Amino acid sequence: MTSPVAQHVGRAWGGMMNLLVPNPCALCVWSDAEKYHLCRVCTALLRDQTRQVIQAQDFADALPLDIVTGQPLPVFAASLYTPEMARLVLNFKDHQRIKLAQVFRPIMYRTLQYATQDCGSPSYRVVPIPTSGAGMRKRGYNPVTMMLPSPLPDRLHCDPGLLKTRWNFFSRTAHHGSGVQARRESARRKFRLARRHQEPAEPIILVDDVLTTGATLAGAARTLQAAGFDIAAAVVLSTVIPRS
Ligand SMILES: [Zn+2]
Repeated sequence: MTSPVAQHVGRAWGGMMNLLVPNPCALCVWSDAEKYHLCRVCTALLRDQTRQVIQAQDFADALPLDIVTGQPLPVFAASLYTPEMARLVLNFKDHQRIKLAQVFRPIMYRTLQYATQDCGSPSYRVVPIPTSGAGMRKRGYNPVTMMLPSPLPDRLHCDPGLLKTRWNFFSRTAHHGSGVQARRESARRKFRLARRHQEPAEPIILVDDVLTTGATLAGAARTLQAAGFDIAAAVVLSTVIPRS
């Protein structure tokens, strides 16, 4: 979409700005970041956008449904996927702004806390959605795991290695299919359990960065449920705004 010339100009401009502002804000780029890579204005903006936890299960049409109640999996989102959140997530995942994790961690902490206050189990296992093999080769880390606070809120413990992506030669072709059914079908084959003979114990809270259709969470939930795990809820940083 962007021409090589525009990219070059953009890079040159960015480089010039870096000379003027030694520590540019990861969101607006113009102002100096004071703390955690964001300027004062963007810190306030982010605080405003993450003020209230959103129950997002009705926003996505491909979430797993409870067998008994028919209700979708509860999903707690820290924010709406606004243009600002989209830029932050993109900078974090693809533009080497890894330290933005420090911005996301307290937000995820509050959202996880909120999610577990709502549920009644004595403890929960937090399972981040694994990154694809290509994503892992590109970045060398899983951005979702990086977003998790340490320590987690009380009664939660992290199990980052439980779920893995399945290497799938046909996954690209599967993605060419359109519609909810095709996405569900490809998401179902996306994950596998990392360790065999894993004893299912406390219920699981799945964690992902952005909720769109819910197909990824559904695929992860199905893989875990097939091994006897109970999925209590999901927590995401952002949820797309539903089409009305
Ligand atoms: Zn800023």
